[in-house]
Amino acid sequence: MAAREYVCVACGDKFDHTEVDQKHYAEQHYTDDPKRCKPCRAERREASVREKTPKFMNLCCVCGDVVFLIFPPVPGREAYCNEHYERRYR
Ligand SMILES: [Zn+2]
Ligand SMILES: [Zn+2]
Repeated sequence: MAAREYVCVACGDKFDHTEVDQKHYAEQHYTDDPKRCKPCRAERREASVREKTPKFMNLCCVCGDVVFLIFPPVPGREAYCNEHYERRYR
């Protein structure tokens, strides 16, 4: 397998999907063609990490523990800590 050239959907730059990359893709069972160049992929990964970082705080309605939320709290919906969230559905 030789390196193949693709155009990044994010920045429009051409980039090589090298043999090493192709092997990596095969190992991860990725079947899609690569869509982004390396810098754009790294940026996306960082962005998704940022998105997963809890930004909002609420209090568990049962024990009053601080609960960290990724999404803004929904008005009228009670927050639960991990422990009480699980118990609620048992
Ligand atoms: Zn790019
Ligand atoms: Zn609780």
